[in-house]
Amino acid sequence: MRTPFVAGNWKMNKTVAEARDLVSTMGVGLKAVKGVEKVVCPPFTSLLAVANLLGGTDIGLGAQNMHWEEKGAFTGEIAPEMVKEFCKYVILGHSERRQYFGETDETVNKRVLAAQKHGIIPIVCVGETLQEYEAGKTAEVVRRQTLGALAGVEAGFAPSLVIAYEPVWAIGTGKASSGENAQHVHGQVIRPVLVELFGQETAGAIRILYGGSVTGANAAEFFSQTDIDGALVGGASLKDDFVLIAQAAAA
Ligand code: PEP
Repeated sequence: MRTPFVAGNWKMNKTVAEARDLVSTMGVGLKAVKGVEKVVCPPFTSLLAVANLLGGTDIGLGAQNMHWEEKGAFTGEIAPEMVKEFCKYVILGHSERRQYFGETDETVNKRVLAAQKHGIIPIVCVGETLQEYEAGKTAEVVRRQTLGALAGVEAGFAPSLVIAYEPVWAIGTGKASSGENAQHVHGQVIRPVLVELFGQETAGAIRILYGGSVTGANAAEFFSQTDIDGALVGGASLKDDFVLIAQAAAA
C-alpha cells in the first residue's frame, strides 16, 4: 500500500536562522509521527543548514525547483547535481512557477526527466485555475498537465513519483477544495492517466497528494479519501499545524 506523504513548501520564507528555529521546534513533533513520509522544502539558501539539522532523522528534505541543464550559463538557476547534494525530493511545476516564471508543461517535463536522470524524486504539481474550474475544464487541464509533465518517464522510475493536485484557486486562499472534489480529480482524472502511462500496478503505487489551504483542521477530510495519499502544504507548513497534518496522515 501507499505510505502517506506530507510535504511542506516553505516558498520564499525564512532566513537561515529562522529556518533553523522552525525545523528545530517542528522537528520534535514530526519525528514522533510514524508511518508517514515527512518532507520539508525550504528555500535553496537554507538547504545546507536544514540538512545538517535533519541528518539522522526520518524527515526528508526537498528543493522547491530545479533547472534541467547540468551546468553552465543559466544565471540564478540551480542544477540537478546541486539539488542532489542535499535533497531527496524536488517540487516541480508548482503553479506559482507556472504563473510568475513562465513554466510550461514542456519545461516542467524537462525538469521531471532531469530529476529521473539524477535519481531525485519529483513532487509534480498540477491543477487548474479558477477560470478553468468555473469553465468546467478541470479534467481536461489536469489530464494535459499530467501527461505533459510525465512524458518519457520510465516505468522503473514511475513508482517513486509523487503527484500533487493543487487547484490554483485553493492555494493560499483559505478556500480549500472539498475532500469529495479532490477525490474525484485524484481518482477519476490523475490515477487513470497514470494507469494509461504505466499500467495498473505501477499507477497504484504512485502517491497523489492534495494541496491548497490544507490545515490541521481540515486535513483528515482529505486523508479519509481513497486516492488522496497525503498533502503538499504551503502556509500551514510554517507553523505547528504541519505536525497536526502529519499526525492526521498517520491516523
Ligand atoms: C502550495 O503552495 O503548494 C500550497 C498548497 O499552499 P497553501 O497550503 O498555502 O494553500
